[in-house]
Amino acid sequence: MPPVASGIQTWSRETGTEPTLRVGIVLAEDRLDALRLGIGTTSRELCCDGHAALTCEPRQTIDIGRSEHGLTVRIGDQGPLATSRVRLVSRKPLTVEPGLGVLVHGVVAGRGFHWQKRVDQTLAGNIEVLPGDGGIVLVNELPLEDYLAGVITAEMSGACPADFLKAQCVVARSWLLAMSEPKHLADPFDRCNDDCCQRYQGTDDLSPAALGAVRETRGLALIAPDGSVLDANYAKSCGGVSETPRAVWGIEKPGVSSIVDAPEAAPERRFHPVTESNLAEYLDGEWLARTRVYCCPNTVPVGAIGRYLGRVDEVDDYFRWTVHYAATKLEDLLREKLPEAAALAVLHDLRVVARGVSGRATILDLDWADGDGRQVITRLDSEYRIRQVLHRGFLYSSAFAIRPERDADGSLKAVTLRGAGWGHGVGLCQIGALGMALCGIDFASICRHYYPESTLAPVYK
Ligand SMILES: [Zn+2]
Ligand SMILES: [Zn+2]
Repeated sequence: MPPVASGIQTWSRETGTEPTLRVGIVLAEDRLDALRLGIGTTSRELCCDGHAALTCEPRQTIDIGRSEHGLTVRIGDQGPLATSRVRLVSRKPLTVEPGLGVLVHGVVAGRGFHWQKRVDQTLAGNIEVLPGDGGIVLVNELPLEDYLAGVITAEMSGACPADFLKAQCVVARSWLLAMSEPKHLADPFDRCNDDCCQRYQGTDDLSPAALGAVRETRGLALIAPDGSVLDANYAKSCGGVSETPRAVWGIEKPGVSSIVDAPEAAPERRFHPVTESNLAEYLDGEWLARTRVYCCPNTVPVGAIGRYLGRVDEVDDYFRWTVHYAATKLEDLLREKLPEAAALAVLHDLRVVARGVSGRATILDLDWADGDGRQVITRLDSEYRIRQVLHRGFLYSSAFAIRPERDADGSLKAVTLRGAGWGHGVGLCQIGALGMALCGIDFASICRHYYPESTLAPVYK
């Protein structure tokens, strides 16, 4: 008899068993008043608080709506039932297979980012639906390894090389088991399904390679120098140099530091750190034509990226990118994004005050005047805030140079941001890890490259 699975919140290395996880799929903040679920090919038990359990037959549709006192549930043409909570459970344990599970229509993916969209998702494990503050909440409860299969094929595509998928799986497992970030404390789930935590999109995109990567790394995690499971952050593209947790979140994480995303002894090590004085060379120097940086287009061609990215991502050159604003457009954006700059009439300047070792701006000052000519400086004090404010969606990264154009009288005419990478840049670089795998490097070496102070060890069977 396998031991009874414990929840992730009480899991520790001493537990030694695979934990279960509650993943928020539809959140209250999505503000959905109605949900449609499709029972897949296997019948399910529907348990509504205050009612006897019902059997849902394969391919039946369940409509759940929010009511004044909780939820209303219709199964096919039957109902409605009034309840405070709905659970859909399988009578027997199910194996995770591509496309198997309960279909949830219109799940929000990419919440608040430039790629936000709604997608249908098929979920393995149990489903719980609750009324939330502002909208319905849907939680998917499942064993950690089944969850990971849905993470590695959502973060990137299941078509990626096996060693990339294994490295991504180990890193995602480690980050989750570390459970060190205080997220969703007031929610009825442990982690959400999106970039806020880790992307998870159920079973639709599972590939044999992804299932193999989960199976072959089962229970394997990165261990920090202090013996704890590593809080292994990761991001899409570092741009050439990865960032420190201190620069992004203002904290130290034992075992997570900055690396140059290139082979040992590569000349690119001269960019560690990226500073104001080498930033222009880092962003546009001639070295880029021949570089062997793992996340650059010489290693992972832009044209091939579409094959390897997650389903919700847009294909672009994330390694080096340009965003251009006419001054008036940027002023509109700042008034809209910053309540404290609602009175902004003229933007004079943007200045990076501090950068992390990857060149990511961590403090940025906006120098502006209101309609009465009063001079104001508004400070953006994190890389997250900088990326959130300086783009209508979300800026790829804060590793950018500001290139202003001015009129003869010195007034700002336009601003070009020339940048590197996508994401906060801490820990494993996903496109870089893909590049390493495409170069034939195995998953353990990929993990060592991004977390040189950590080791790999099994933490449950
Ligand atoms: Zn989250
Ligand atoms: Zn990289």
